[in-house]
Amino acid sequence: MTNDEFDYDLVVVGGGPAGSTVATLVAMQGHRVLLLERETFPRYQIGESLLPSTVHGVCRLTGVADELARAGFPVKRGGTFRWGRNPEPWTFAFAISPRFASDGATAYQVERMKFDQILLDNARRKGVTVRERCAVVDVLEQGERVCGVRFDDEDGVRRELRSRYVVDASGHRSRIHHRIGGARHYSDFFRNLALFGYFEGGKRLPEPNSGNILAVAFPSGWFWYIPLGDSLTSVGAVLRPEALDRVREGDRETVLRQLVSECPLIAEYLAEATRVTDGPYGEVRVRKDYSYIHDTFTRPGMLLVGDAACFIDPVFSSGVHLATFSALLAARSINSCLAAELDEPSVLQEFEARYRREYALFHDFLVAFYDTHQDEDSYFWTAKRLNDDGVASAVQAFVRLVGGGGSGEGALLDPDGYLRERREAFQELTDVVQSPVAVPGEDRDLLGAALLKDVLKEGVRMQTQAALGGNVDDQRPIRPGGLVPSADGMRWRRPEPSATAG
Ligand code: FAD
Repeated sequence: MTNDEFDYDLVVVGGGPAGSTVATLVAMQGHRVLLLERETFPRYQIGESLLPSTVHGVCRLTGVADELARAGFPVKRGGTFRWGRNPEPWTFAFAISPRFASDGATAYQVERMKFDQILLDNARRKGVTVRERCAVVDVLEQGERVCGVRFDDEDGVRRELRSRYVVDASGHRSRIHHRIGGARHYSDFFRNLALFGYFEGGKRLPEPNSGNILAVAFPSGWFWYIPLGDSLTSVGAVLRPEALDRVREGDRETVLRQLVSECPLIAEYLAEATRVTDGPYGEVRVRKDYSYIHDTFTRPGMLLVGDAACFIDPVFSSGVHLATFSALLAARSINSCLAAELDEPSVLQEFEARYRREYALFHDFLVAFYDTHQDEDSYFWTAKRLNDDGVASAVQAFVRLVGGGGSGEGALLDPDGYLRERREAFQELTDVVQSPVAVPGEDRDLLGAALLKDVLKEGVRMQTQAALGGNVDDQRPIRPGGLVPSADGMRWRRPEPSATAG
């Protein structure tokens, strides 16, 4: 097939956060992108609590961060948890981690109908052709390669379009994910189900934490309590699989009310509240079988992103983070291929390796977090063990991980802040080396020589960073033979020969 036979460079299936992000980032490189969305927006979706890595990281790359800031979503400074051995609620703030810039150490609680609309409209403005009410039913193939989609258009007419790449971003109900090959595997560990609804007039946490997510463990599972505005609150119970019969056999509204009464803190917060009973928030909804991962995320010509590929559990709001982060990784791979800069197998491997690493980080942490017999210090140390950068304290490592910054990706963190931090570390080391004060019991020369070596190494890294204009950690591959992000974060490139895998 020649290039002229393709209608588009990329067809994206689904207009949620994953789909609109990958579509935008590829269109911003001047490529022809079509996004097909089954519904008419705004449409309801769960997943309202976001992370800094999305709203200040990926959304800054897609150019929509300022619009989000103007949209008036409640600002989430962190999380408040009644969880583990500690009977009292404990709170963390994203600002504890020096890896998030001071103005980037927050996220939002969003009504997804509004958030997803803003992202989709931004995709349109960035050059993506968006068609709503178009349901993709299958992919087109040529040999091993996917080369387009078959879909029912706005008038219900079945059509075909050819494209050089297809991204499946159609979420947990994807009809085409299996065309990647392999199968979706459901988690044996996270077999929970969620029962959720909306309330007006619920209590708020004291300032400055009124925008925090409140998560409260209770005997049957745990509750989320997410403020979506001054008065509207999203309330959901995540229940162990044993509760399935109770939900299946009972009236949902009654079961939700009973569960609230079994959880004193949530009952107190909802004491004056009334459940919303009409409009998109009027239904008490159930979701189950939502924890899974696909065998493979790629095939020649096709990639899975967001919930089409995997999802773990709602507890630390990783869903939209994994959706937008995987969209960024996918966009880099597609942009690199479309620019004919790198070979397709290498960029697809890079996408999959980084996506799986981030998934595994959250997965392994969440498995440990579900052991509610620990206290918060133990959770912090688990985060440090899983995601140690050699600098952060245990609580900082925890906050960086649950803020979506575990990958150390410059695109997700604040590059200026990071640079500032490294400069300070550089200065500290320089001061120690130059200090005339002897360290009792230590060989000053040896200590000095070792430190000097580190300082020089750091100096070289900083100079490289200045030259490339990006985060130095981004210049190190995550695996031998791996790729690194380009300076603008939009493509992959081969690392400098001296860069070792981190
Ligand atoms: P989606 O948001 O599902 O978007 C997929 C889009 O594809 C939809 O618009 C759909 O209409 C469209 N589509 C589907 N099929 C087709 C087709 N055949 N053709 C064309 N279009 C199609 N995440 C968080 O970050 N924070 C939270 O607090 C949170 N809470 C959660 C609570 C629960 C109980 C659950 C189950 C999940 C939660 N999540 C949360 C996860 C979050 O909902 C998802 O991870 C996120 O919405 C994934 O985004 P996406 O773009 O991949 O998919």
